[in-house]
Amino acid sequence: MKEIKNLLEKLSNAHGISGHEGNIRAIVEEEIRSYVDEVRMDKLGNLIATKEGTSPSIMLAAHMDEIGLMVKYVDDDGFIKFVKVGGWFDQTLLNQRVILHTEKGMLTGVIGSKPPHRMKEEEKKKVIEADDMFIDVGATSKKDALKLGIRAGTSITIDRELRPLANDMVTGKAFDNRAGLVMLIEALKRTNAEVTVHAVGTVQEEVGLKGAKTSAFGLSPDVAIATEITITGDHPGIEKKDSAIEIGKGPSLTVLDASGRGLITSEPVLRWLRETAEKNKIPYQLDVSSGGTTDATAIQLTKAGIPSGTVSLPTRYVHSPVEVISLRDLDRCAELIARSIETVDRYF
Ligand SMILES: [Zn+2]
Repeated sequence: MKEIKNLLEKLSNAHGISGHEGNIRAIVEEEIRSYVDEVRMDKLGNLIATKEGTSPSIMLAAHMDEIGLMVKYVDDDGFIKFVKVGGWFDQTLLNQRVILHTEKGMLTGVIGSKPPHRMKEEEKKKVIEADDMFIDVGATSKKDALKLGIRAGTSITIDRELRPLANDMVTGKAFDNRAGLVMLIEALKRTNAEVTVHAVGTVQEEVGLKGAKTSAFGLSPDVAIATEITITGDHPGIEKKDSAIEIGKGPSLTVLDASGRGLITSEPVLRWLRETAEKNKIPYQLDVSSGGTTDATAIQLTKAGIPSGTVSLPTRYVHSPVEVISLRDLDRCAELIARSIETVDRYF
């Protein structure tokens, strides 16, 4: 469990918003290289690691990008206005410490706002929108900010490191989807498969499943699994009827997401994953949801159609800098994928 924690920590603490996945790609490449025959990068920036073998070929996809921000404009006093890259809930951004990734290196900043002491009672009740927030890096003027290397287009991430919680839980940023990358890397390390495996670190999932689309087209696999995180309904503020998934109860397999507008997992894929879990005594949960979707949706609709499913890690507080997961769940997700690669030829 320590090994899996260290790998998640390394990937979660690293930074890479959509379109700027270079740091993450480098870590995955280093971790994966000795377990595959070939590693390359495609034109969009997807990392494609291939272990040659027999048919059918299987694609594992985990997105490398995290949600973040980008510099839009610096005002005359050196304060920075930004756009959101990916699905943020504005309230979670307020008063966060952030890192700006400039050509000259990393800079620390904070997301500032008007102090509550100077707000009218009515103002205090209102949600502050990201549009009304700004970043303070300590610059004294626009010129000063430019000198520090800040430009329109500078990418910004949250400054937050992984910490252990009680039992086997940990908290941190970007477990969506660095936990998915851990599954992909660990599965490759653990599997004794003879089939061809394409392990793909995809780009730009959070802004429209983009890298999955192009990499699946290029690889044309026989079957695919996206490794992801999924929302739990096991804490105050949400009910089981909103999500039946619980932390600590093992991998979540999507049956249907986004009310069917996203992925409807094909029956053979679901049967393959369920039977493999049962044979190996890995507990699993079935997820039927109305919310978002994953890379599996884009892959499934590639060319004449590719049977696709997901193995997802139950995660609390998704799309916040304090996501919470269970390392035991993460270990079981990796185990299920490793064993599924070994049984895929019986189903496809
Ligand atoms: Zn996400």
